[in-house]
Amino acid sequence: MLRSRPELERLATLRASGALTLVPTMGSLHEGHLSLIERARTIGPTLVSIFVNPAQFGPGEDYAAYPRDLAHDLELIEPLGVDAVFAPSAAEMYRSADTVRIEPGTRADVLCGAGRPGHFAGVLTVVAKLLNLLRPEVAIFGRKDAQQCLVIAEMVEALDFRVRLIDHPTVRESDGLALSSRNRYLGAEHRRRAQALWRARNGAREQREQGEREPARHRRTMARQQAETDRVDYAEIRSVPDLITPELAAGKILLAVAAQVGPARLIDNLVLQIDGQRITETALLAEGDDR
Ligand code: AMP
Repeated sequence: MLRSRPELERLATLRASGALTLVPTMGSLHEGHLSLIERARTIGPTLVSIFVNPAQFGPGEDYAAYPRDLAHDLELIEPLGVDAVFAPSAAEMYRSADTVRIEPGTRADVLCGAGRPGHFAGVLTVVAKLLNLLRPEVAIFGRKDAQQCLVIAEMVEALDFRVRLIDHPTVRESDGLALSSRNRYLGAEHRRRAQALWRARNGAREQREQGEREPARHRRTMARQQAETDRVDYAEIRSVPDLITPELAAGKILLAVAAQVGPARLIDNLVLQIDGQRITETALLAEGDDR
């Protein structure tokens, strides 16, 4: 395991042996993370980072309470044949004089970015630092955090980072609930109500399949289907990659929902390619996995 900057010199050997592939995580690993790691293993030497990034949590969010169990995380990834783990302390990542932050592009203005000021600046800053420190050839992110993937892709393009990005499909419970480290905050009753997010995005897809092309009606349907949650943060339909109001005749769209259920704020989404009457689930990024 690598914990500090000087130890990163050891990555040179891995870099020479293939396309070094990074899976950035905040730990508290579950099957979703493991699926990203398995994907990375099919590409090249695999590096997993585990770091709960203080810069992406707002005041009043769950930074202090965020679940952390490095020993358990290491046990979970042990059988997967990961080549290296980078698990720095907060003091190692952010030295006291660091005040530079990366300002996201316009894709960060909507959805989660609208309700969480500074969140994506924190995400981009840590991702930029990880890309610079670890210099992977490929980095894999989960499609579950769709806006995060698109905001990072915009930064990579705008600032000429030399890395290939892949968005990997969302891993779910058998009832459809997207796996998340925050699901452990949910009791049985919360779990039941959390399924509303999954139903909302599926309902909007069915509506489009039946010919509905009015974004406002899709938003209303998705919001209605989340009535069982405690608070709907958003129920949105957006174009990919720019996250503006879409034409629903052709092109790629994102159906995205966020809601508070008991103690957890949950998000989910569906990415669709529309070609007239043909509607298929697809990846966000050109190199994403289409499953
Ligand atoms: P996190 O530890 O929550 O920051 O997540 C690390 C990476 O795992 C991010 O790229 C997430 O999008 C991805 N991820 C989280 N949950 C899932 C899931 N259920 N399926 C696939 N990827 C996921």
